[in-house]
Amino acid sequence: MSQTPDNAVRQYIEQNSEAFLDDLKDWLRIPSVSAQPEHADDVRRSADWLAAKLKETGFPVTEVWETAGAPAVFAEWPSDDPDAPTVLVYGHHDVQPAAREDGWDTDPFEPETKGRQLYARGAADDKGQVFFHTLGVRAHLATTGRTTPAVHLKLLIEGEEESGSPHFRTLIEQHRRRLAADAVIVSDTGMWSETTPTVCTGMRGLVECELSLCGPDQDIHSGSFGGAVPNPATVAGRIVAALHDAENKVAIPGFYDGITELTDRERALFAELPFDEQEWLRTAKSYAAHGEQGYSTLERIWARPTAEVNGIGGGYQGAGGKTVVPSSAFVKLSFRIVAGQDPARVEAAITQWVEAQMPAGIRHTLTFSGATRPCLTPLDHPALEAVARSMGRAFEQPVRFTREGGSGPAADLQDVLESPVLFLGISVPSDGWHAPNEKVELDLLMKGVEAAAYLWTDLAGSLRT
Ligand SMILES: [Zn+2]
Repeated sequence: MSQTPDNAVRQYIEQNSEAFLDDLKDWLRIPSVSAQPEHADDVRRSADWLAAKLKETGFPVTEVWETAGAPAVFAEWPSDDPDAPTVLVYGHHDVQPAAREDGWDTDPFEPETKGRQLYARGAADDKGQVFFHTLGVRAHLATTGRTTPAVHLKLLIEGEEESGSPHFRTLIEQHRRRLAADAVIVSDTGMWSETTPTVCTGMRGLVECELSLCGPDQDIHSGSFGGAVPNPATVAGRIVAALHDAENKVAIPGFYDGITELTDRERALFAELPFDEQEWLRTAKSYAAHGEQGYSTLERIWARPTAEVNGIGGGYQGAGGKTVVPSSAFVKLSFRIVAGQDPARVEAAITQWVEAQMPAGIRHTLTFSGATRPCLTPLDHPALEAVARSMGRAFEQPVRFTREGGSGPAADLQDVLESPVLFLGISVPSDGWHAPNEKVELDLLMKGVEAAAYLWTDLAGSLRT
């Protein structure tokens, strides 16, 4: 009796799952905490371990790439089909700090299987999700009879993601030619839930700034001078109050210029997700939902730009009163931006707006830091359709689509390599990223292997021009 291809893939994965998990556990035992200098050798050991394992998997090219910080791993497996498209997989091999006393039930660096869950720091973020590609590509080869992947396959696994990827942009600019790809697959995200498989289609970007306001050269008597000179704390308050209009839209002229609006299809798909706002509010530890009029909570988080006051201060902060006109005040602001918004243009709009608010006698400095671009792949992009189909086959149900409200290095890949970024992840919110008792659901991990096994054939077809 002939088997359907899906059965053959599942059988192959099942036969090899034990060895796969043993290897993953070995990797999880390496405490590759990039934020802690005492683990620098472990981060390097993790890179070497992965490079060796990728070689063993079959990648003919495996290299450890140095940065000014922790090393990254690059691997390449060209297809024997010269016309095949090129795909780059991104993930990271460093992990968040973890210690037993943070509330872990077991040693964070001694993987522990309980039922169908594997507990360890990095189990979901991100070693498990990087590692599913190793068995995935082997299942792809074994069940298609190929000796090389259907796409030119490249992997870039960085070692500093949990420290804010300080050298990542330089690294990919430096290796731009070797990293060139028709599509980037980011495996460092999650799904809606165990029962609702989803594919993320984009992330918001980020612009951050601090505004310092100086009035009189020192704090001065509010009776002798107050009401007759400008007060920098009042100006800080006015700026914060003027950030949003009555509909909670950002009131900075030009801020929304060029943004990619949500399509009706996306809005309808978001609305179909089993979203429980009360439950979400409990997670938010907030007492009400609030935001831009005309948009749902999910739309506000995923697809709309925002302005947030992260901090405000100035004047007397001690006990009791002090009747002064303060000398200085500050406001810390951050802006989440969406596809179509350019950080440089947004920064220019903010700068102009702040200048226009400034009364005579208040000197100000506006300092920007840490801009990240947004990224978004349209729902009808052939590569996104291929990812969704592969996930759908693995989960035996159509997948839905989400976005990510946060910001990350994926945008740099889109920007520098000029290729669409797709997200293939199987982690779920309960996995506890960055928290004690991080785990990965083994059944979902194996679905990740399976989706990766289907993906290369599908992408080879859908990306071919
Ligand atoms: Zn991660």
